[in-house]
Amino acid sequence: MVSSHFKEILMRLGLPEDRIEVLEAKGGITEEEFDGIRYLRFKDSARGLRRGTVVFDEANVILGFPHIKRVVSLRAGVMRIFKRTPFYVEEKVDGYNVRVALVSDRVLAITRGGFVCPFTTERILDFVPEEFFKDYPHLVLVGEMAGPESPYLVEGPPYVEEDIRFFLFDIQEKGTGKSLPVQERLKLAEEYGIPHVKVFGLYTVDRIEDLYDLIERLSREGREGVVMKSPDMKRVVKYVTPFANVNDVKIGAKVFFELPPGYFMSRIMRLAFYVAERRIKGERFEELARNLGKALLEPFVESIWDVEQGDEIAEVFRIRVKRIETAYKMVTHFERLGLNIKIEDIEEVGGMWRITFKRAYDEATREIRELIGGRAF
Ligand code: ATP
Repeated sequence: MVSSHFKEILMRLGLPEDRIEVLEAKGGITEEEFDGIRYLRFKDSARGLRRGTVVFDEANVILGFPHIKRVVSLRAGVMRIFKRTPFYVEEKVDGYNVRVALVSDRVLAITRGGFVCPFTTERILDFVPEEFFKDYPHLVLVGEMAGPESPYLVEGPPYVEEDIRFFLFDIQEKGTGKSLPVQERLKLAEEYGIPHVKVFGLYTVDRIEDLYDLIERLSREGREGVVMKSPDMKRVVKYVTPFANVNDVKIGAKVFFELPPGYFMSRIMRLAFYVAERRIKGERFEELARNLGKALLEPFVESIWDVEQGDEIAEVFRIRVKRIETAYKMVTHFERLGLNIKIEDIEEVGGMWRITFKRAYDEATREIRELIGGRAF
C-alpha cells in the first residue's frame, strides 16, 4: 500500500491520481523503509520518472539511472552516433550501479532497482567525501561499486585486489536526473578527490583504429569494456570486450536455468559481431571458439555433477562491514529481493567484520535434479 502522504507528493510532482492508482495496483510503485526513512520506489517508469526512481520527499526525488544503448558493430555504431561530435571514452567498470545522495542529513546509496542498500550505505563514506554533499546537496553521485567482495556479483575487475571500491561515472541533478557535462564532472571529482572510472581520452571518429586497439588491450587484461559519451552527456553508448562476453557466459552457465535464454543469446551475438567485424580467423578464431564452448559447457556440466552428488547449486559471497547489524540488514534486503541467501560465517578482520554469505539457486538445482531423474520434456 502506498500511503496518502506519498500519493500527494506524486500528484504535486505532476502524476495524475488515476495514473497513481493504476501504478499502485500493478505493483509499479511500492513504499519501502530504511532505518526509519520511508521512501517510494518505482519498479516501472511513469511520466518521466524512470524505472528505479526513488522519492523521499518533494526535494529528494532521485531519478532512476537510464538504460545505456549498446553498439555491436563498433565502427558503424561510433560513426553513426558521434559523426559530428568528439566523445570521451571511459572504462566500463564491472560492478553494480549506485546512486549516492544526501537525504535529510544522511548519505544514502541506492541500487539500480531503487532500494537503499544497507551495505553500500554503510561503506560509501569510505570512498566519497561527505563535504561534497554539504556543498552540493542537490546533486547525486552515480558510480559503480566493484571488487571481489561485493554482495551482488561473484567477480570484480582485475585491478581491484581486495574489498570493494567506488568509481564515479556520472553526476546528476535531483528532480530532473539531468547529467552534468563530462568536464564539470571531472573537475568536481578532482576537486573533492572522488575516485573516478578511467578516462581513456577524447576521441573522434577518425581514431577508430585506436579504439580497436584499446578494446583488444582491455579484453586481454580481463576488463569489461568502454562507455562512450559526448561532452554534453546527450549521447552515451557502451561496447563490451570479447573477454566480458565469454566471461558472462561462463558465470551464467553455472546457474543456467536461473537466466532467461536471451542472456546467453545476446552475449553470443555480440561475440559473433566482434569476430565478423575484426575478421578474426585462424588460431585466434579457434581460441575464441574454444573459450566460448568451454565457458558454456564446463560450469554447466560441473553444476550437473554437483547436483548428482546431492549438493545444491550455490555461490559464496564475502563482504566487509563495520557493524554486524549491517549484515543482518542485508539478509532482510536479500529476502525483499526474493533471494535465498544465508550468513555462513562472521569473522573479525582488522577492526571490521568479514561476512560470508551463501546464495542458493533453488530453480537451477530443482531443474537439474528433475532432469537427472529422467524427467522428459
Ligand atoms: P541497461 O542495459 O539498462 O543499461 P544493464 O545492467 O544491462 O542495464 P550494463 O550492460 O551492465 O547494463 O551497462 C550499463 C551499466 O554499466 C550502468 O548501469 C553502470 O552501472 C555501468 N557502468 C560502468 N562503468 C560505467 C561508465 N563509465 N559509464 C556509465 N555506466 C557505467
